Amino acid sequence: MYALTIDNLTKTYDNGFDALKGISFSVQEGDFFALLGPNGAGKSTTLGIISTLVNKSQGNVSVFGWDIDTHARMAKQYLGLVPQEINFNQFEKVEDILITQAGFYGYSRHRAKTQAHTVLQQLGLWQKRRDRSRDLSGGMKRRLMIARALMHQPRLLILDEPTAGVDIELRHSMWHFLQQLNEEGTTIILTTHYLEEAEQLCKHIAIIDEGKIVRDSDMRSLLNEINQETFVIYLKNSLTETPDVPEFALNLIDEHTLEAVVLEGQNLNTLFQCLTDIGLEVVSLKNKSNRLEQLFLRLVKEDGR
Ligand code: ADP
Repeated sequence: MYALTIDNLTKTYDNGFDALKGISFSVQEGDFFALLGPNGAGKSTTLGIISTLVNKSQGNVSVFGWDIDTHARMAKQYLGLVPQEINFNQFEKVEDILITQAGFYGYSRHRAKTQAHTVLQQLGLWQKRRDRSRDLSGGMKRRLMIARALMHQPRLLILDEPTAGVDIELRHSMWHFLQQLNEEGTTIILTTHYLEEAEQLCKHIAIIDEGKIVRDSDMRSLLNEINQETFVIYLKNSLTETPDVPEFALNLIDEHTLEAVVLEGQNLNTLFQCLTDIGLEVVSLKNKSNRLEQLFLRLVKEDGR
């Protein structure tokens, strides 16, 4: 069963701008799917159309088999959307925001209250349930946005840039929560331009650029395509020239910093061993650039730009 199918979707805004130039992709039930692309690629437009906030120009969209044109109400029942902008009433109390939301989906007050208690606890907002939402911290407001989207128990949750501008701690706790939700059976789609986020969380990825899908595949095979990684290595020793290690391409950046290219089939242990053999001690290392970032640059280039 597909949680979402998008077929040849186009969007031309009133000013004549073609934001989507015929995109197609599907998301399997149970998937954790990333729609990745730079700013202006068409991600929000796509989400806007799925959630019927933006009118499409052409094409078809269905949610769990329900066409958004012919069966809008059913499609909406299955779909929960967490928009980028915080858009609840700042003066309403946390619990009331949730209960009101469930009312839009036909929940009785009693059922809404029970569900509100569940999501408040899930998202660590139980202690804050009687606070006015404007008194919540930025991170809690983000969590409240997710809680609200979960009130009608959607089987597909779509999040638009869920961790844009949030600190690392909150980002990680949101990742953890979303992973758990996915494991419990909710299909999740997120848009992001944090490549690391897609790499960490998602099983499938579609890359969108200038209104076109430039890649749609599972994350693992995408990552396998990238056959080299560059590491930045910080050394305890102080060097004046690039050490001679024939197995690896090394480059001295400053007296304590080396860059090393590790090709597919090579591994970091070998690199460490080679460095140790010539008396060098590694203090720390990091990836120079994310592998998806490299791939993305390549795909955009292949696309002719
Ligand atoms: P993303 O979410 O990937 O950053 P968007 O879907 O917001 O991209 O925007 C895609 C393109 O459509 C951008 O070039 C944007 O400027 C343009 N766009 C978005 N909304 C409108 C609008 N209401 N009218 C005209 N152009 C728009």
